[in-house]
Amino acid sequence: MKPSSLQDSLKPIVALAKRRGFIYPGSDIYGGFANTYSFGPYGAALKKNIKDLWWKMFVQERRDMVGMDGPILLHPRAWLASGHLEGFNDALIDCRACKARFRCDHLIEETLSIGADGMALSEMNELIRERKVKCPKCGAADFTEARNFNLMFSTHMSKTGHEGDVAYLRPETAQAIFLDFKNIIDTMRVKVPFGVAQIGKAFRNEITPGNFIFRVVEFEQMEIEYFIREADWETLFEDWLATMHRWCERIGLSKGRVHEKEHPKEQLSHYSKRTVDLVYDFPFGRSELYGLAYRTDFDLKRHAEFSGCNLEYTDPETREKYIPHVLEPTFGVERTILALLCDAYDEEQLENGEMRTVLHFAPRIAPVKAAVFPLMKKEMLVERAREIFASLKGLWNCEYDESGAIGKRYRRQDELGTPYCITVDFDTLENGTVTLRDRDSMQQERVPANQLIEILNTKILF
Ligand code: ATP
Repeated sequence: MKPSSLQDSLKPIVALAKRRGFIYPGSDIYGGFANTYSFGPYGAALKKNIKDLWWKMFVQERRDMVGMDGPILLHPRAWLASGHLEGFNDALIDCRACKARFRCDHLIEETLSIGADGMALSEMNELIRERKVKCPKCGAADFTEARNFNLMFSTHMSKTGHEGDVAYLRPETAQAIFLDFKNIIDTMRVKVPFGVAQIGKAFRNEITPGNFIFRVVEFEQMEIEYFIREADWETLFEDWLATMHRWCERIGLSKGRVHEKEHPKEQLSHYSKRTVDLVYDFPFGRSELYGLAYRTDFDLKRHAEFSGCNLEYTDPETREKYIPHVLEPTFGVERTILALLCDAYDEEQLENGEMRTVLHFAPRIAPVKAAVFPLMKKEMLVERAREIFASLKGLWNCEYDESGAIGKRYRRQDELGTPYCITVDFDTLENGTVTLRDRDSMQQERVPANQLIEILNTKILF
């Protein structure tokens, strides 16, 4: 959908991600499998750091939050109650001439520059006909009628073997939290306002191509359902927006590239009274990174109705009973990784004319925190370097590398975004100091080897 030059701007990042073991195409040896990716050793480490930091910031460091981990398969009635069976659709349209398939809202946005998120099917069909929209692939103005496709993946439970035992892979993690709302208020000493956080997989049968890992069919969400009194929603909405910006800063995203985008009233999802997206300036354009939605009491009310279960909360002081309203900050893990890669990626010309590719990851999320090198492959140096490596690797993900020229080893770590390199040389054997090289400034300082843990601790600051 996007002009190829913009998509091309992702190419060096996609190439580095594969070359250096961050992200591989899914089912690569079978020629790939549309919109799926695999996270290699460094990608998995980066992902884990992001999720650990998120959990720390939103569960561990707060007194008003608890965490949970619900199932991917929920009772099918839950999806009826949530509105997903009926309304979780993408309107798709096909070009009759070249058979290319597009998401209707994207086609309108791209070709007519009109926001079409949430626009009725009939309205989109009319616009495309009247304005004689041309296919961005082949130029023909010959589209089919747009039709709705449900985005949920379905599967069968083999319990009874009967046809019709359809179950759905969750398209968002949120519903698992609503289904356990009662269990949480019954078993935990939570008091409104409080939130429940969850990290887990979600699945969407996205048909349109995805700008690398921006839009995939299987992804992870880090979601919070924050239960509140209705009267407090506006103040708390602003608080959460500010907190979401703080998260972006904490993972090291450039402030100037993160913006807010208010959803117009007529484009709001069926459950939402207000939604603001945090959008990021990706190389292919400004697009949704995270979202904050005021879901009202829609979900809990519907689940109470469809399950027959009382989902009221009782205020411990006033004994007032009510169904809480909900604010939902939602964070996609893959989009976080893509934004971080785009933000961190740099090709720099060095003074000696060489180019270096570097990922300027914030130390706290970098997949490898430090690499230890002996200056040369001399036994005494190797032995000391291995000792230092052994003392650090239990604390942080570190690497040991003794092969090749020292400059090459620095470049290898620059490409992984390793913030610190420690080199053991002959002075180390004399006076116990090592060089500590900073990835961004490339400056080296001599520090006592026996103080490395303390020094790195203050620099990495998880
Ligand atoms: P879009 O408009 O891009 O389809 P959405 O508004 O449907 O996204 P939400 O339902 O708000 O997305 O999902 C919450 C978060 O989950 C998003 O902000 C994004 O970070 C992530 N996300 C949603 N769909 C995908 C996907 N197909 N691939 C990767 N991440 C996704």
